[in-house]
Amino acid sequence: MKKKIKGIARDALKFVLEVSASSHPKEFAGMLYETDGIITDIDVPITQSSNVSAVMNLFMLPVSPHTVGSVHSHPSGALQPSDADIRLFMQSGNCHIIVGYPYDTTSWACYDRIGDRRKLDVLDIEIEESAVYKDIQETFGGEDD
Ligand SMILES: [Zn+2]
Repeated sequence: MKKKIKGIARDALKFVLEVSASSHPKEFAGMLYETDGIITDIDVPITQSSNVSAVMNLFMLPVSPHTVGSVHSHPSGALQPSDADIRLFMQSGNCHIIVGYPYDTTSWACYDRIGDRRKLDVLDIEIEESAVYKDIQETFGGEDD
């Protein structure tokens, strides 16, 4: 969790923007995971409870050593984190992306765990193998042991 984040893979950011756009006007929320210091994976809660906000559903996801933070959308288009957002940020890593309507490549921002804006480079890399799902399988699988 203390690892330095070099940036986000362009494909991962594209995925976030597309999913946020298709969720509109509802909120989309997921967790971010890194491979070798680059954000390459987004995990989304399978069961979205309709009684709580999309952001609150994130607390149901397993935290892995590769978890670096969260991502969620603001259908209003505002990119500032709310007080509830910052409470989530403080509990789950140091890299939190908010994407806003109209979900284009400029309508997003990244924040640290106390809600200060931080820089996040978009990197053109090939995503080969995800370390994340391997870890989660090792933790929660166990069929082969
Ligand atoms: Zn929010």
